[in-house]
Amino acid sequence: KPKELDIHSPTYLPRPAVVTIMGHVDHGKTTLLDSLRSGSVAAGEAGGITQHIGAFSVPLPTGERVTFIDTPGHAAFSNMRSRGASVTDIVVLVVAADDGVLRQTVEAINHAQNARVPIIVAINKCDRPDANPDQIRQQLLSHGIQTEEYGGDIQSCEVSALRREGLDRLLDAINTQAMMMDLRAEQDGPVEGIVLESRYDRGRGLVATVLVKSGLLRIGSCLVAGAGWGRVRELSNEHGVVLSNDPNFTFIPPGMPVEVSGWRELPHAGDIVNEAPSEQAARAIHEALNRTGYESGMTEMTR
Ligand code: GDP
Repeated sequence: KPKELDIHSPTYLPRPAVVTIMGHVDHGKTTLLDSLRSGSVAAGEAGGITQHIGAFSVPLPTGERVTFIDTPGHAAFSNMRSRGASVTDIVVLVVAADDGVLRQTVEAINHAQNARVPIIVAINKCDRPDANPDQIRQQLLSHGIQTEEYGGDIQSCEVSALRREGLDRLLDAINTQAMMMDLRAEQDGPVEGIVLESRYDRGRGLVATVLVKSGLLRIGSCLVAGAGWGRVRELSNEHGVVLSNDPNFTFIPPGMPVEVSGWRELPHAGDIVNEAPSEQAARAIHEALNRTGYESGMTEMTR
C-alpha cells in the first residue's frame, strides 16, 4: 500500500520539474535539447564527454534546476504512462515558425492533454526570414491551445534552437509553470524511481539512467527494477562526471536524473525502480519476480 503523502511533512520537499520536448519531426527537438544540454555544462565540470544518458539537468539563474527527458521516440514516456507512473510534469511543444502545426504536433497536444500535462509552446526557427510566430499561435488556437497572446493561459516563447536565442525566456516560462505546480517529492523512505535508459558501458559495465521520484539515492542503495537488480556502486551525470567521487557528495534527490552503475542484471527503459533493504533482499525479490512475475515479486517485497 503506497504511503500517504503528508504535505506538511518536513521531508516533502520541492523538487525539479521534469520536462519532455515534443513536436513534429524536423521542427528542432534534437537541436533544442542539444542547445539546452551544452548550455548546462558548469565551469570546471567540462572534461568528461557529454553523453546521451536519457535525461539531463539544467540549472536556472534562480538556483532551481530543470530536468529534461531526452529519450529517443519518447518510448519510455509511453511505457511509463501505461504503467500508471507519471514522469513528465511539463511538455514543451516545439513548432517550427516556418512550417506550422502538423500531424505530430497535434499528436503531441493530444498526448499531453490526455495525460493532463501542461504545455509550453516553443516557436522555433524564429531566425528564419519566413518565420511567422503569430500565425503559429493562431493555428494552435484551432487545436485548443490558447496562448497568453490570445487570452489563454498557455505560455509561448519565440526561440532559435540553432542560434541559442530565446532559451533563457523558455527556461523562465518553465520555471513559472513549475512554481505554479508546486512540485514536491517525499525524501523520506525507500527510493522509488524510473529507468530512462540502460546500456553496457565498456569501462563501467552495466549502467542505467534512473530518475528518482522519491527517497534519496545513495552509494550502496540496493535496487530492483523489472528484470534488473544491483547495488549502487557509482553515480554520474550526463557530462561523465562521477558525482559520488566528490567528497561532499551524499545522495541524489528526487527529480535529478543520474547514471547508476553496479547492476548485477540490467533493467530496461520504463522499469519502475524500488529500493530493497539489503542486497540479499534485492536478489530474493529479483528471483521471485523472475519466477512468478512482477506482481508477486512486488508482494514479496512489501511483506
Ligand atoms: P527534430 O526532428 O525535431 O529533432 O529536428 P532537428 O533538431 O533534427 O532539426 C531539424 C533541422 O532543422 C536541422 O537541420 C536543424 O539544423 C534545423 N533547425 C533546428 N532548429 C533550428 C532553428 O532554430 N533555426 C534554423 N534555421 N534551423 C533549425
